[in-house]
Amino acid sequence: MLTVENLSISFRTDEGLITPVQEVSFSVEKGKTLGLVGESGSGKSISTKALMRLLPGNSALSPETRIRYTAKDGREIRIDEIKPGARALRKLRGGEIGMIFQEPMASFSPVYTVGNQMIETIRLHRGVGKREARDQAIEMLDKVGISNAPERIDQYPHELSGGMRQRAMIALALSAGPALLIADEPTTALDVTIQAQVLELMRDLQRDLGMAMIFITHDLGVIAQIADEVAVMYLGTIVERGPTRDVIRSPRHPYTQGLLKAIPSVDKLHDRLSPVPGDIPSPTERPSGCPFHTRCSEAVTGLCDRTVPDEISPAPARGVRCWLHTEEGRSAA
Ligand code: SF4
Repeated sequence: MLTVENLSISFRTDEGLITPVQEVSFSVEKGKTLGLVGESGSGKSISTKALMRLLPGNSALSPETRIRYTAKDGREIRIDEIKPGARALRKLRGGEIGMIFQEPMASFSPVYTVGNQMIETIRLHRGVGKREARDQAIEMLDKVGISNAPERIDQYPHELSGGMRQRAMIALALSAGPALLIADEPTTALDVTIQAQVLELMRDLQRDLGMAMIFITHDLGVIAQIADEVAVMYLGTIVERGPTRDVIRSPRHPYTQGLLKAIPSVDKLHDRLSPVPGDIPSPTERPSGCPFHTRCSEAVTGLCDRTVPDEISPAPARGVRCWLHTEEGRSAA
């Protein structure tokens, strides 16, 4: 349904040209969930904003970038070729690809009721009258678990609790009937109980509606609950990918291993968590060689700090960018 090839994004800044996303490729199948995981600054959100052409004016995609999307009517759309402001973009956003954010107020206008905003979206994308649109909006609010939907529909976003607002935002994104939903850290700001409820809701909705989903998070524990496939990003590149269960059971990249060690577990309450040491470098100070070598305890001097490893496949459907999985890396270690 969606294939992204060689996605590179550059920004013109006062400090010169920076490229926070470099040669990223991934695909999402109909009805499946791809998890994009990594720390802040790994390039996950910027990559998915490119799919909606929501990047700022000082940015550019590389000429090698190809973003192919198969629309609901079966047409293939080259998203990377759509011009800013084109009519096709309006149809794509919402009607084909929906997006939800960590902060619901990024989706809602505070000066209109939840219902007004949903009804407008439904009328725009589904071409129905006001009354029918209102009925559909109530149905959707009900579906996402908002009690008393016929009354809540006329409330303003600030009148809802945090968890309710998050549900209402999901309802707003789904009201246009997208075939692909991009969820950018939608549960990060919620407490754990509400987080579990929202994750379960999203899983159920995805199954009922047959949607594909890209789920962005810094938390591999959340990915384990929701994603079929996972791509681990570090400093604008995918360093490991594969079926979620396989990656979590046998992570191959030292960064993925570090992210997993940082997840608290009830079985190991007395063990200290060992987060990945250090901070992710700025894209303006991108290290030479493997981008992770400045934080990697297994880095091979003279190799990892000089040459970028290619992606290799250590097992079926798996991909990893690390010298330790090559003959060259093993003999140099
Ligand atoms: Fe660590 Fe080297 Fe592998 Fe990079 S290539 S993750 S520095 S061992």
